Amino acid sequence: MLIVMEKGATAEQVRCVTDRIKALGFKPHPIPGAERLAIGITGNHGPLDPAEFEIIPGVLQAIRVTKPYKLVSREVKAADTVVEVGGRPVGGRRVTVIAGPCAVESEAQILTIAARVKEAGADLFRAGAFKPRTSPYSFQGLGLAGLKILARARDETGLPIVTEAVDEESMAMVEDYADAAQVGARNMQNFSLLKRAGKSKVPIFLKRGMSATLDEFLMAAEYIMSEGNFGVFLCERGVRTFADHTRNTLDLPIVPAVKHLSHLPILVDPSHGTGRREMVLPLSRAAIAVGADGIMVEVHHEPEKALSDGPQAILPEQFTELMRQIRGMAGLVGREHEDAQAPGPPPQSQS
Ligand code: PEP
Ligand code: MN
Repeated sequence: MLIVMEKGATAEQVRCVTDRIKALGFKPHPIPGAERLAIGITGNHGPLDPAEFEIIPGVLQAIRVTKPYKLVSREVKAADTVVEVGGRPVGGRRVTVIAGPCAVESEAQILTIAARVKEAGADLFRAGAFKPRTSPYSFQGLGLAGLKILARARDETGLPIVTEAVDEESMAMVEDYADAAQVGARNMQNFSLLKRAGKSKVPIFLKRGMSATLDEFLMAAEYIMSEGNFGVFLCERGVRTFADHTRNTLDLPIVPAVKHLSHLPILVDPSHGTGRREMVLPLSRAAIAVGADGIMVEVHHEPEKALSDGPQAILPEQFTELMRQIRGMAGLVGREHEDAQAPGPPPQSQS
């Protein structure tokens, strides 16, 4: 159920509604809109009677939400959500580029790559300090020491940091050091981690599970939002299919499918989506062409020495070219990627 308040409803009227929802044993979620406030209700197991809320002063309308997910849905919030990550917008007209290596390997490696992607115009820096690896014998990440290196990279470049939390313990560390926490494909249905992410003080970058349906993906986001964290941005990173010419099959149609059902931003990760360096540029262009709110790409200055995902990492000079092409593609589809930090034109002289 979604309660839409009248324009200019008073704080007292809003409180009446939230008190009534709580008294019924449910959870109210105030959702500010450009015109009026709406209040989502979760926790009810059956349909609610709209009349019960419509009699409360200040309530314009109570609407049944027909989708199984509520807070993520466009029924509850029609306008696109813009999530702030370290002061930078993700979603809206501007496309966002997240770049960096798969893993934090050393301070020198991170500072080198961060400087290069910053120079090329990346918006956010990524690298994993906690790595969910298929084999327990593979490099597992530097952990807390890696987070400290990432914080150093932010100090030097000004780029906000997105990095993965693999469990509740690492989430507590990640939110202290990073600007957004990633929940990776392998954890998309780790419900206790999702609930913890919902209580996090930082926005959550939620990647699609490798065999997750659209509904499962949106339900995972719903878990996070239902705990009160509305800063969620999604990422398509490819799914498992019979195709063996790529590491995963990048499911670009999920972008317009998500946009139809949800107000949340969705980015595309062509690095894990293809597993192949030479495919990252064309699939980045394609992602923007189908309406993604941005891309996340892995970049490494010495991919042959990378401790994880070297074959899919592009070189810094390839990233510079990618940025050029992304800006061109963004312009073609009514989006933009001008430098959010760039100073505007000088003020015109009055004389
Ligand atoms: C990653 O972003 O480095 C990563 C492990 O991605 P995914 O969870 O999509 O495999
Ligand atoms: Mn990786």
